[in-house]
Amino acid sequence: MTALATLTVDLNALAHNFHALKAATGVPVHPVVKADSYGLGAVACARRLLAEGADTLFVARAAEGVTLREAVGPAPVIYVLDGCVRGTATALTQADLRPILNHADQLSDWQAAGGGPCGLQIDTGMNRLGFRPEDAPEPFEGLALVMSHLACADDPAQPMNARQRDAFAAVAARYPGALRSFANSGGCFLGPDYAFDAVRPGICLYGGGPEGRPDARLKPVATLTAQILQIRDVPAGESVGYSRGYVAATPRRIALCASGYADGVARSNSPLGAVWLNGTLCPLLGRVSMDVIAIDVTEAEATLGDTAELFGPNRSLDDAATAAGTIAYELLTSVTARVARRYVG
Ligand SMILES: *Cc1c(COP(=O)(O)O)cnc(C)c1O
Repeated sequence: MTALATLTVDLNALAHNFHALKAATGVPVHPVVKADSYGLGAVACARRLLAEGADTLFVARAAEGVTLREAVGPAPVIYVLDGCVRGTATALTQADLRPILNHADQLSDWQAAGGGPCGLQIDTGMNRLGFRPEDAPEPFEGLALVMSHLACADDPAQPMNARQRDAFAAVAARYPGALRSFANSGGCFLGPDYAFDAVRPGICLYGGGPEGRPDARLKPVATLTAQILQIRDVPAGESVGYSRGYVAATPRRIALCASGYADGVARSNSPLGAVWLNGTLCPLLGRVSMDVIAIDVTEAEATLGDTAELFGPNRSLDDAATAAGTIAYELLTSVTARVARRYVG
């Protein structure tokens, strides 16, 4: 049985982006494969990235790390961004995961559980996870990596970027034995003084642009397609879908495609969304329903069984996200389990 909605993951494009980020920064790339590699499948993505030369991976949750460790074996270093959350020290140790310690309680819990290699996060202004620079601990046994995270890396003009970089450089100097990790995807393109010892990109590996729009240096990795279930002609004056979300001013030919919010196509796509079909960008009409979207194919070539592309090489992830009022990260991580994953490369 062929899947009606499919997320195709191009692992060759993933490898291309990995090498593009390495070339852009000149330092090792430590892929972020949290949230199941932003919905693309952490095991498949991690295996390919390791084959391309990555030796260190980042996940968010300890449970993600445990699953990943089973799949990739003992060799790669795996950091857990949540850190040593109370109750997870044993799981972290057993799976040889390294917590990124974010505050004093995590540090004491990790040390009480026996310590071992770990990282330290310094909050340089985002007020998310991490020690404030003035509260940063003295260097301690097992500290292998010190990191911080940019709040505005997608906006190169934002002066906070340089302030965070300088604050990080100052505090990292107190830990001479630790690897310095600073830049996420956006940070990889802010210049050489943002690279430090290794970079930590996510979205750019998966084909999203560093500034929230398509970037020619990166290849699209994820393609979401949906099959046409029915084609119909709508006379002028009739409406389409729930709540009369679209009313045809002139006669329209529409195609109903097998994707809806139960597949991760947000209702907020209406009214700006569009999908690519056989060379034509077709506007979404009316409300996204649970299993079906309606698109205008009056100007397009449409045959029953054709597949429309919601995002991919012909309709960029970033453009699709902007139309839906969101960001590439959320678009990718919203694709639900009902959508079949297919890997090429
Ligand atoms: C998610 C995350 C990243 C990766 O961010 P991108 O913008 O996807 O490159 C890096 N570091 C931290 C701390 C994160 O939470």
